[in-house]
Amino acid sequence: MSLIEQYETVKRSLPEGVTLVAVSKTHPAEMIRELYDAGQRIFGENRPQELREKYDQLPHDIRWHMIGHLQTNKVKYIAPFVELIHSVDSDRLLAVIDKEAAKNNRTIDVLFEIHVAAEETKSGWEPDELRAYLAGGAWRAYTHIRCRGLMTVATQTDDEARIRSEFTTVHDLLAELRDRYFDATFDTLSMGMTHDYPIAIACGATMVRIGSKIFGARNYGPAAQ
Ligand SMILES: *Cc1c(COP(=O)(O)O)cnc(C)c1O
Repeated sequence: MSLIEQYETVKRSLPEGVTLVAVSKTHPAEMIRELYDAGQRIFGENRPQELREKYDQLPHDIRWHMIGHLQTNKVKYIAPFVELIHSVDSDRLLAVIDKEAAKNNRTIDVLFEIHVAAEETKSGWEPDELRAYLAGGAWRAYTHIRCRGLMTVATQTDDEARIRSEFTTVHDLLAELRDRYFDATFDTLSMGMTHDYPIAIACGATMVRIGSKIFGARNYGPAAQ
């Protein structure tokens, strides 16, 4: 199947109300341009410099999402234009995003990344850590960020029951935190990738991040291995 055919297949598999983030990391600007011409506007990247370069090369009405672990010293590359940062995993990062957003006269939408997967290497807040952080209230001082919801990456496994249970935990946490600290605009649940997005949607995802099913396998090259 061609890139556009794969894209259309993925689009058709999404119910109304589920937003597609086309994860274009490692893929060239020309492929993004092809999808742009087919109507896709939201693209996700996980490296700030790569995101910045693609922003410079492509139409400026593309809505760029940062989906990967973000170091505080890299926020400046994307703060002038990024639409949504999915991967907020510390107060320190939130503070820097707030500061860089203010410098750019913007308000940046963010999601808290929740760690529910078995892999220790994955980043994000444990649910109890985030509960304690929000109760502490430091985040209330940040005037140039808007907390829009939660993001998670499930365990890499064929055990569907396990994946479903992780997604359900994050779904329930969204409702709990919305009621306790936020309002109806805390409504974004970013979960589901190529191998598990149908499960994520069944568990209430409002946003899925799909790369390989659209673009094909990624080749990181020898340097990145
Ligand atoms: C790469 C990536 C994706 C997309 O993964 P695919 O399996 O290619 O769909 C989604 N979310 C995050 C955080 C990623 O890093």
